[in-house]
Amino acid sequence: MRLSKKSLMISAIALASALALSACAGEAEPTDPGTDVPVEVEFEAGTTMAALNAAGSITIGTKFDQPLFGLKGLDGKPVGFDVEIGKIIASELGIDEANINWIETVSANREPFIENGEVDIVIATYTINDARKEKISFAGPYYNAGQDILVLAGNPEGINGPEDLAGKDVCSVAGSTSEKNIAEYGVNLITTDTYSNCLEPLRNGTVIAVTTDNVILAGLADQNPGEFEVISKPFTEEPYGIGLGHDDDAFRSWINDLLEEIYADGRWVAAWESTAGTVLATPQPPAVNRYTN
Ligand code: GLU
Repeated sequence: MRLSKKSLMISAIALASALALSACAGEAEPTDPGTDVPVEVEFEAGTTMAALNAAGSITIGTKFDQPLFGLKGLDGKPVGFDVEIGKIIASELGIDEANINWIETVSANREPFIENGEVDIVIATYTINDARKEKISFAGPYYNAGQDILVLAGNPEGINGPEDLAGKDVCSVAGSTSEKNIAEYGVNLITTDTYSNCLEPLRNGTVIAVTTDNVILAGLADQNPGEFEVISKPFTEEPYGIGLGHDDDAFRSWINDLLEEIYADGRWVAAWESTAGTVLATPQPPAVNRYTN
């Protein structure tokens, strides 16, 4: 059983009023109830939450080259919406932010990193889908993206959708849903490890487009003002989930509960607005999907 921050706050308030009442009655001097009542959490023994809480640290895989979602800063720590979601999860596990071990996951190594235990969770613009659910499990979604197309500013080739890319050189990333989705349109696909690696080929004309999720492309366009544009015609649905160990149902449902809590209490919106929201409109949070296998 976990004690939520809310129930602790309520007990702190109850304690404060009890002390105030007894002080009025002259029975005891009130001690300062304090505003910094530590958030103590307790988890059922044997759960991943209990293990992470006892360890006092967590390893989270995220992207390091995707502005707005996961971009490694000068201090070596990533920033972005995915990173903020990771910080909330860590704090609710009773783990100090300084004890989050951030490691870079690229699209192709996310399932293996979870399967091998190299990371505890992955929060990395990671689409929930059935093929991946055979190897790992997903909490969420915590955001719904859609695949889109990035072209040179002014769209010199007049690309209006994936159909216009048939037979053309297009860059995407190995191991992504973007790679698989675009392959259906008969493009000449050039793959690399990260989306930022696709930018130079687009600049120098080796490819005429880069394709992946609209919000990743928006971050890359924003990072390189005046150079690129997103055509803004999403053609897939990409619900972002938090990847965790296969069939770790207790952990999955704990994260799902937490997502619903932060949708309701404003923490999800605050995380969005301080990161992706500096460039993108604030969406409604998606309903979590408590799927059964
Ligand atoms: N959301 C898609 C995926 O998980 C594309 C973005 C990415 O590769 O991270 O494959």
